[in-house]
Formats: sequence, structure tokens, C-alpha cells
Amino acid sequence: MRLLVVEDDEDLGFAVSNCLRQDGYAVDWERDGEVAEEILRYQSYDVIVLDIGLPGIDGISILKSLRARADKTPVLVLTARSAIDDRIDALDLGADDYLAKPFDVREFLARCRALLRRSKGGATDRIEMGGFLFDGIAKTVKVDDTQILLPNREFRLLEILLRSPGRVLDKDQIAEQLFDFDHETGPNAIEVYVARLRKKLAGGITIKTVRGLGYVVEPVAAPVA
Ligand code: CA
Repeated sequence: MRLLVVEDDEDLGFAVSNCLRQDGYAVDWERDGEVAEEILRYQSYDVIVLDIGLPGIDGISILKSLRARADKTPVLVLTARSAIDDRIDALDLGADDYLAKPFDVREFLARCRALLRRSKGGATDRIEMGGFLFDGIAKTVKVDDTQILLPNREFRLLEILLRSPGRVLDKDQIAEQLFDFDHETGPNAIEVYVARLRKKLAGGITIKTVRGLGYVVEPVAAPVA
């Protein structure tokens, strides 16, 4: 899951990017509206967090051009508490949700999660396969009722794979959702994370390598008697 935060306020931009990163999301933080506009023409995101008052191009214009080119990426608009007109404009122009500043970080994260869920076609936050259980809200993974502790990055990689059931994802597709621009990764990074996940989730699910194509999650086959 990769998010773009467009916010020129240093403290707020840092706070929201940081809490998202701590939750394991890949985050690109852009302070300038014009640069953000540019990035959105070639980089796709799962959610865009958009401030209205920005240097360069304002948030409303960014939203307008995004929707004008039929880009449906969910947008969470951040507005000043008193700016009711901004909120109405943003919602009319296709923003999916808004938060008035100042806001509670927990509410912000919950709203981002809700938008991410919707963008994945209403995918549930609870995924069960045999003795394997993934809970995206509680951030827990269980294999046969035993909780498996996963660092954030491994948890998000698992989430990316689970949210594309039956679809083979290649390393580039995974890396694009797992890492942001600032994160330099070698070609083997995904392999390393997948190897760790396989070890920890053995007996719960199988992460199958489709040679030359990528990875796909499958339930563990029942043991042959
Ligand atoms: Ca601003």
C-alpha cells in the first residue's frame, strides 16, 4: 500500500507521513502542489492525502485534474476547520473524504484504512484460509490459533499478496506498493521478505513462486494421507 501525502505544513506533513510509515505503509510526502501534480501523472497510489492551500497549484486544482483524467484514486482532503466552502468544493469535485485540522492521528489512520479498503473493491480486513487468519484492523496474523508476530514491512507485503487473490504479482508490482521514492531497495529485497514470511507462516499459507512471473498466495494443501 502506497500513499501520497501532499501537505506544505512541515509539522503536519511530518506527523501524518510518519504515523503512516510506522504503520508499515510506503509514503511519499510532497510539499509543493505543482510537483505533486507532476508525480500523479506517472506514479499511481492507493490513497492521496491532499491539503488545499499549497504552494504552486492548490489542492482543489490537483483534485480537479485528477478526476478530469478519470483517475479514481481515493482522495482524503485536509482542510482548515472553518473552511466549509473548501470541503463542499472538494467533495463535489470527487474527494472521497475529508478531515478538518487539527485532527486526531488515530482518526486519520482509520479514515485512510477505510479508503484503502474501498479502493481494493471493498476487500474485507479479515482473511481466513484454513487455519490461517489475517486481521488487517487488529494487525494480527494467526496460524492454527497461534499468533505470528510480523514486522510492519512483512505484514504489509503479506497484505499486498492477500489482497490480490489468485493473481500473480511480480517484484516490481510489489515493490511499487511496498516502498516509497526514498527507499532504496536492491533487486533481492522482495525475495528476502518473501523468504522470511514463508518461514513464519509455514503450515498456514503457501507463497508460491511462479517462475519468471512473481508470487501468489495459496492455501496450504491438505496433507496426503
Ligand atoms: Ca497548507
